[in-house]
Formats: sequence, structure tokens, C-alpha cells
Amino acid sequence: MRTSQFPLNTVKETPADAEIASHQLMIRAGLIRKLAAGLYTWLPLGLRVLRKVEHITRAEMTKAGALEVLMPALQPAELWQETGRWQHYGAELARLKDRHDRDFCLGPTHEEIITDLARNELKSYKQLPITFYQIQTKFRDEIRPRFGVMRCREFIMKDAYSFHSDQASLQETYERMYQAYTNIFTFLGLNFRAVIADSGAIGGAVSHEFHVLADSGEDAIAFSTGSDYAANVESAKALVVAQTLAEPCEAFAKVATPHQKTIAELTEFLAVPAQKVLKTLAIMRSIEDTHGDISEQFYNVFLRGDHDLNEIKLTKLLGSFRFATETEIAQHHGCVAGFLGPVLDASLPVIFDLDTRYLTDFVCGANEEGFHFRGCNWLSDPKTMAFYQQAIADHAFHDIRNVVAGDLSPDGLGEITLARGIEVGHIFQLGTKYSEAMKAGIINETGKHQIMLMGCYGIGISRVVAAAIEQNHDARGIVWPTHLAPFQVALCPMNLHKSHRLQATVEQIYEQLNAAGIETLLDDRKVRAGFMFSDMELIGIPHCIILSDKGLDANVFEYKARTTKENIEVPLAELMCFIQAKLAD
Ligand code: ATP
Ligand code: MG
Repeated sequence: MRTSQFPLNTVKETPADAEIASHQLMIRAGLIRKLAAGLYTWLPLGLRVLRKVEHITRAEMTKAGALEVLMPALQPAELWQETGRWQHYGAELARLKDRHDRDFCLGPTHEEIITDLARNELKSYKQLPITFYQIQTKFRDEIRPRFGVMRCREFIMKDAYSFHSDQASLQETYERMYQAYTNIFTFLGLNFRAVIADSGAIGGAVSHEFHVLADSGEDAIAFSTGSDYAANVESAKALVVAQTLAEPCEAFAKVATPHQKTIAELTEFLAVPAQKVLKTLAIMRSIEDTHGDISEQFYNVFLRGDHDLNEIKLTKLLGSFRFATETEIAQHHGCVAGFLGPVLDASLPVIFDLDTRYLTDFVCGANEEGFHFRGCNWLSDPKTMAFYQQAIADHAFHDIRNVVAGDLSPDGLGEITLARGIEVGHIFQLGTKYSEAMKAGIINETGKHQIMLMGCYGIGISRVVAAAIEQNHDARGIVWPTHLAPFQVALCPMNLHKSHRLQATVEQIYEQLNAAGIETLLDDRKVRAGFMFSDMELIGIPHCIILSDKGLDANVFEYKARTTKENIEVPLAELMCFIQAKLAD
């Protein structure tokens, strides 16, 4: 391509709403343009990169035996009602009506559609296992679209779905997909990790997320220093070693804490570490009765002051819940938030994080505005002791917190360290969740009707591009890994328009590069050298060939890799061999 026919849309200004490097660079390098919140147009340069991600994904899906299909984005509500997701998906599901007033949605994912296809097309175990995939546009009305194409409302996903007659077959395909994902992200040159992920409401299901490691990542990932354990913090288990309660040392006292509502304020004021504070949260648990009527129940949830509630873990335990309002708190504690402590009343349900079980000499709210207790011990007075022992008897101690750096790894090997990650892929053993609800079955080997097992496997194709930039950039712009670069080589002639000799040589080299299948961008604009180089650096072309009349006089060209600052001179006659060697590196 020539820049005269393939205009670069680079801009100097960093857009005001672009908080992270990849978003800024994708706009500045002219890869994307914003249409509205969470909606982006891919410009020609950006689309070349997107297509590369699609291309390697297709190749690996084919290698893994998956068959490509293309399903509609517009989906009838009836299918979503069959699985119950029409009610449960919430506001992220973009719903609309057709001219006949029928309900539809724009697909955020395609389990319902593929399961409908499978129940119509698959009849016998002989057709299994089978995996379908598509690369297609998804719609999610995200609550806070941000970071450009990283979290947008319309994006490209590769979604695959597999169907099986038994668990062993599902496991085999799952492993094949795990390998395919590993191949894709390795080929793309990304620093990534597969981590154990939350398997949602279906207990026992297996799931892994693939994360590109980057400080700006929205997810926290827990790694072990002593093994290959890696999990999303959402689902990383906190390992608590059973201990005996230490003997109390401090005398119990009620202390005035007039303005100290937060853990930080309290620990500073009382000069106690957060590990010595019992934090009390008030929540309302939703309870659905057999008629589908919902009522709510007030719960107290206790954590150590230095620990954060893991809402996913608590949801698994209690089902859906919300935080209690000031009025609800006042009703049960007779006090405002910030000064809450255990209400020693057996009729009020409680959940304790495992670590609170071994607290001694701790601080907690006095259930009275402006006061806390210190020197608290579970076994210090009969009422507290009864409350504590009741909680043990009721099995009220659970792992409900986020792991923190320094925790023991759940496999007992090493410690937890934390890093940030961008989720680019997710694989999941669905089991019969959708096939059961939609009655997708086959006739099995024994001639009986049987519900199929399913797996699903997603890659955020457009997010991969942003994640790659997040991991590969410098102050001058994008530094594309070889297989993602929109062009491999930038051909930059100096003062091309002034020299026929240079024009002839450049044309010849351009043709040779193209003939060798090397994707080359010839910059034939009438622009200053500095301008040309800064554009090529901004758009991240890995290899730059600089040609000038002066170079021709000496029979040399200059070469500069995107990753270095210095140019080197190379004999012109060696150009093709030199570049091919660089590309093979
Ligand atoms: P997230 O936790 O980031 O919202 P998710 O768990 O909702 O992701 P999946 O339903 O597993 O995502 O979708 C598969 C893949 O699609 C994700 O791994 C991610 O790479 C991508 N993806 C999900 N939501 C978005 C979005 N709003 N914009 C761009 N890509 C997305
Ligand atoms: Mg999401």
C-alpha cells in the first residue's frame, strides 16, 4: 500500500476521554474512531490488525476441528425465555421490538441460538462430538463502556460451542480449545496466562479465563510463587490454616471514636492494625419462595478489617443480595453504618469470613454512633462466647473474601502474588445448563433419548487488539508484535518527489517486497522526514527502510527497527535478504 492511496489518519491530540494507553494510541494512530459511547468504527489500518486476529483464530479453530457458522445478531425473545435469561440477563441485554410488536434482542452471546440449531440438526450420538464457531458482532449495553474497544457496546467475538454425549468427550474438546487458545495468544506474541475462573451459578463446572497481563487490566489475578496455580481473584480460594485461639491480652473497653467510620480512620485513630478489626457489613438477601415471590432477609456479614468482601463468593453462598440501606441498618443495629458490630441475637442470620474465627484482642463497632469496642475476644464473656459457638455450630464460617498478596496458595505451595489482567478469552464447561432447558438431545448408543453436554469458548477479537497495544507500546507509539502489525515494513524515501532516480529504485524495491509477500507501506507523501518517521513509529510498523539519494550514491539504505533508536546502514544489494532475515527473527 502507498500512503497516497491508503491515507494514515494519525492525530496529535490525545482524546480527553481516553484514560489508558491503548485507547489513546488507537485513536492517535488512526485505528478506530468513536461514533458514540462504546461504539467505534474500525478504520482501514485498524481493520488490518483486527483481521489478523480473526485469521489466526480461524486457523486454530479449524485445526481444533471446529466448524464455522454465522448466526444472526437479531434474536427472538422466545429462545431467551426458554432458558430464563430473558428475565435474568438484566439491562446489558439490548432489547427491541419488531414492527409486529414481537420481542427481540441483539445477541450478547449465542448459547440459545446455537442450542436451538443443535436440537434441530443433531439427532444421533454418531454426529457427536461437534463444535461450531463464528466470528460475529455482539451487543452488550455495558453500564460503563470504557477504554475504547476494550469494553464497548458492540464488539467482535469469536464464540464456539461444542456438543457431546458424555463428560469425557466434553473434557477432551475443552482441552483442545485450551490448547488452541494457548496457540493463538502465543502466536500473537502476547504475555498471557490461563487462570481458573468463576464458573458461575453451576457448581462444579470448569472454567478458565485467558488474561493478557497489563497494569491497566480490570481484573486482579492471583498467582502462586511456588506452583503454577493461577486464578482470577473473583474465584481464588483463600486458604486458612486451622489454629487455636490465642489467649486474650488486652482488657475489654468501650472507646469514643467520634468521627472514625472507615477502617482507615479507625486504625489510625486507635493505632491498631486493620488485621485486628472486625468489619461488619449489612446486606439484604433475596429469597424466592416456591411461587416465585421474592422476600428479603437482613444479614450481618463479618470480615477482618484488612479483607474485602468477594461478592461472587457470597452470591454462591446466599444467592443474590444487595447492601442494606441506612434505614434497614438502623432497624437492626439501632445505629448508623460505620459503628456496626455483632448483634448478639441468635435470630439475626450471620456469615463470617473464615479468618475472623481466629481474631483476638480485636476492635469492632459498639452499635452506638461514635463508639467502638476494643480488646474484644470471642471467648471473653458468656454472650459473645455463645454467639461465636452458635456460628460454629451453624457452619456460618465461610471463605467470602478476596485473596490478598502474601496469602498461602490454595494448593499449599508458595504464596499468592497479585497482578492485573485483561480478559481476552473464556472457556467454559456448560454441562447441560442450556441443553436441559431447551431440551436439546440425541438418541444415544443404547437407543435412548439423552440431553447433550455443552462447552462454550469465547475470544474478544476486538479486545485482543487493544490488549496487545496495552502490552506493547512506548512513548513514541505502538510497538506491534510481528504477527499483529498492519504492515511489516515501512518504506520511507526522503524527498522522493525531487529525484527520478530515487523514484525508480523505490518502485523496484516496493515491487520486490510485495512479490515476496511482505506487507509494505510505501510512504509517498510529500512530508518532512521527521513527520514521516514519527507517523511510522506511532502506527508501530516493526521494520523501517529509509532510502535517499545520498544513500543511493553510496549504494546503501538505512534500516531501523521500531524497537531501537539507531539506524544502521546496509548495502542496497542485500536489502531483500536482510529484511527477510529480520522478519524470520
Ligand atoms: P468481562 O468480565 O470483561 O465483562 P465477560 O466475562 O462478560 O467479560 P464473556 O461473556 O466470557 O465475557 O465473553 C467472551 C469474551 O468477550 C471476553 O473474554 C472478552 O474478551 C470479550 N468481551 C466481553 N465483553 C466485552 C465488551 N464489552 N467489549 C469488548 N469485548 C468484550
Ligand atoms: Mg461482561
